Amino acid sequence: MSPPLKTEAIVLRSIRYGEADRIVQLYTPHHGRIGAIAKGVRRSRSRFGARLEPFFHVAVVLHQGRGDLFTVTSVHTLAAHAGLRDHGATLDAAARVCDAVARVFETSDPHPEVFLLLCNELALLSADAAHAQPANGLAFRLKLLLAAGIVPQLGACAACGETEHLQGFSAAAGGVVCASCEAAAFALDEESYRFLVAALGRPLARAPAASERALRQAERAITETAEHHAQVRLRPMMRQT
Ligand SMILES: [Zn+2]
Repeated sequence: MSPPLKTEAIVLRSIRYGEADRIVQLYTPHHGRIGAIAKGVRRSRSRFGARLEPFFHVAVVLHQGRGDLFTVTSVHTLAAHAGLRDHGATLDAAARVCDAVARVFETSDPHPEVFLLLCNELALLSADAAHAQPANGLAFRLKLLLAAGIVPQLGACAACGETEHLQGFSAAAGGVVCASCEAAAFALDEESYRFLVAALGRPLARAPAASERALRQAERAITETAEHHAQVRLRPMMRQT
């Protein structure tokens, strides 16, 4: 039998299973995304209590089962992020964050920087509901693309290297494109461009403000990049018109 796996984790999803069990999807710093079953978790005297609910930051001990799922044998809460549960907007934003991580990082490859980014974002949302805005959510997604190695090129035309007249965005080309390479691109306003650059460069807590039009364009750039380069469909953040 392999030795138990002791790790920190964020609970991405928690699904009822049978009479009293739960199947949880965990994101860990050194083992990526892990599926596990917690037995008897829904009994009133369960030793796991409510610690395996989504968004909890926990320390767990897992045993490798025969199938794909680990078995949870111990859970200790490191942060409950209780503030998230006070507002519909923060709950919704946190659910999108966990969903995006689960989709872009679905394997057991280690990405400790993604784990830290996820902890940071959940802590921000829990501390202040003002962060539950599209600007913050899009900045988070851009940083996820960066960690996945598919961040759009923003410094120069992704097709020809031109550094002026960057006025389109093409996921196929890999980022912003200039006026002469614009054929397969959609128009990207100067403001949207500045948002993308600032959102990548600044800490999440200081995601830049932008108009709704600019945020829509930024979302389109992020969504098309994830689809084109990672074959991942991200849940819509804003209604596209
Ligand atoms: Zn060009």
